[in-house]
Amino acid sequence: MQNDFCPGGSLAVKDGDKIIPKLNELISTFSKAKLPIFFTRDWHPSNHISFVEQGGVWPPHCVQGTAGAKFHKDLQVPKSATIISKGDKPTEEAYSGFQGTKLRELVSKMQVTEVYIGGLATDYCVKETSLDALHAGFKVSVLEDSTKAVDVKSGDGTRAIQKIKQEGGNVVTTRETISLLAGAMQ
Ligand code: ZN
Repeated sequence: MQNDFCPGGSLAVKDGDKIIPKLNELISTFSKAKLPIFFTRDWHPSNHISFVEQGGVWPPHCVQGTAGAKFHKDLQVPKSATIISKGDKPTEEAYSGFQGTKLRELVSKMQVTEVYIGGLATDYCVKETSLDALHAGFKVSVLEDSTKAVDVKSGDGTRAIQKIKQEGGNVVTTRETISLLAGAMQ
């Protein structure tokens, strides 16, 4: 949930900021339940391989240390959360939060067996993070109404969700997840 992926950013997802209230509700519920929270972020050098000038497909975005790389100001980032930076080497793209990071090692240490994934964008980072989590053996639930797709091609977001389901992922709503956790905390 970085500025460059939100309206006004260099690689904005239409209405990308509209999911922030739902994500904040989830974040606060997970916080109260003392469940671990991870924020992944693109953290690109200015000559990153995914940028058009380097032969990639995207305009420059989320360059390390810039305003565009910051989390959206309305997003709640608890102090207890872990920030995972990815795509931080010039020659490596990383849509997945697991790619080239310590995420798997960190969650395994916490004896996590199940992960819930939301944010931007459904058809890239959410999709690839979900598939990597499934392949690593985690139970995966994608919070469909707390994601938004880039939809470079119309329907990309829908196809990404289908692919996650095919690979064994669950697709859930924010509301039912919050109810489930609230019930578990009683
Ligand atoms: Zn990127």
